Amino acid sequence: MHRVVIVGGGFGGLQAALHLRRADVEITLVDRRNFHLFQPLAYQVATGALNPGEICYPLRAIFRGQENVRVVMGEVTGFDLDARELPVRTVLGEERFPYDTLIVGGGSKYNYFGHPEWQHVASELKSLEGALHIRSRILRSLEAAEVEEDPAQRAALLTFAVVGAGPTGVEMAGQIAEIARDTRRDFRLADTEKARVLLIEAGDRVLAAFPPRLSARAFRSLESLGVTPLVDRMVTDLDDESVLVRSGDGEERIPAKTIIWAAGVLAASIAGHLAAATGAKTDNVGRIVVEPDLTVEGHPEVIAIGDMVKVRSEPPYPGVAPVAMQMGRYAARLVRARLDGARAADFRYVDKGNLATIGRARAVADLKGLKLSGFFAWLMWLLIHLWYLIGFQNRLLVFLRWSISFFTHGRGARLITGDEHMP
Ligand SMILES: Cc1cc2nc3c(=O)[nH]c(=O)nc-3n(C[C@H](O)[C@H](O)[C@H](O)COP(=O)(O)OP(=O)(O)OC[C@H]3O[C@@H](n4cnc5c(N)ncnc54)[C@H](O)[C@@H]3O)c2cc1C
Repeated sequence: MHRVVIVGGGFGGLQAALHLRRADVEITLVDRRNFHLFQPLAYQVATGALNPGEICYPLRAIFRGQENVRVVMGEVTGFDLDARELPVRTVLGEERFPYDTLIVGGGSKYNYFGHPEWQHVASELKSLEGALHIRSRILRSLEAAEVEEDPAQRAALLTFAVVGAGPTGVEMAGQIAEIARDTRRDFRLADTEKARVLLIEAGDRVLAAFPPRLSARAFRSLESLGVTPLVDRMVTDLDDESVLVRSGDGEERIPAKTIIWAAGVLAASIAGHLAAATGAKTDNVGRIVVEPDLTVEGHPEVIAIGDMVKVRSEPPYPGVAPVAMQMGRYAARLVRARLDGARAADFRYVDKGNLATIGRARAVADLKGLKLSGFFAWLMWLLIHLWYLIGFQNRLLVFLRWSISFFTHGRGARLITGDEHMP
């Protein structure tokens, strides 16, 4: 039996395994987590709109009925390409998994632009832990504002700075503005409606991947929600108390107790390890450069997919789920074609467009010539996210939660958990 080892139960790896359902292969799916995380909705966990379990799904449950998949929880620690074995640190220690084909979809991590120390101050949203940490920080700031008597300190506690105005930053800023507004009656002294939500962007517009007209609409929508978009501003320093921002007019230090990082991504470290093992090149954000059929040069048995990949002959693809999913499906097709002794055409990304939500009933959509903003774009965003969410139960739960919070403006998951609940 042909042995396929897949690294990563993210968008790419999952599709590769699912599309090998009927193939005569034995699949081992390795991930350091025992669940698939639907990253596009992580910001809703970070803002108490959804519970973690509603955007995650256990990998074992996904493959319960697919007999040719074995799920292994463990961290890939390197590559033994000569022996065609994958070393993995499991709960029991180091194990090695032999393969005939290796598919690697390790994803990406946030890029702190040479300042890894900022990570401790400005939390990221790439992981479930990151989302829960941000949730605690936002809610703790509101709690502290309720008891803080000094007006300047209270203002700093009610200032939230989101760095990066791509879709994640815009969604996050919009949601924080909504929390502040929706919870105003829950507090007595903290005037949460006075919260300042700053969206800091080094470029000259928000949602730069969208046409300028939609960017301008998103900008106005953000302002009407109470967000202050600060474009052409570069973050040059940050700490627990403030963020230092440089613009054409000089530098300004803005007091802000909660800083959230949503700027730029780097390929996951595993991309660099694979490149070092195979001698492949990496690009300026650490993505491994692969052949047009997604194989690593000189290693036709190794296929790399998703956020961690740059295809040699193509301009970089956006780091979005559809790219990873299409690459995962392509990898499965390539394996099946090889087993049949056939050739597969090179990978081609079909770009179906871009969507970003800004807040309740506000979104922008740029879908194959169709440019929409407002309620219909938001409805489309909602349906597409529900469609791609894994598991019927999660779809139903998220649909119910969204419906309830749409009408009641409530947020059921405003919980401060972990050690941080202590003062
Ligand atoms: C906050 C946020 C919002 C987003 N919003 C959108 C959106 O609205 N629309 C959209 O299309 N895209 C969005 N994206 C991007 C999208 O989530 C990614 O493009 C997509 O997840 C990439 O899929 P992937 O399979 O390459 O990696 P991932 O989905 O990140 O999966 C990688 C997997 O590899 C595992 N892994 C990594 N290294 C190792 C290792 N050494 N050992 C074992 N396992 C390992 C990880 O645990 C993970 O499960 C968003 C991303 C974020 C962070």
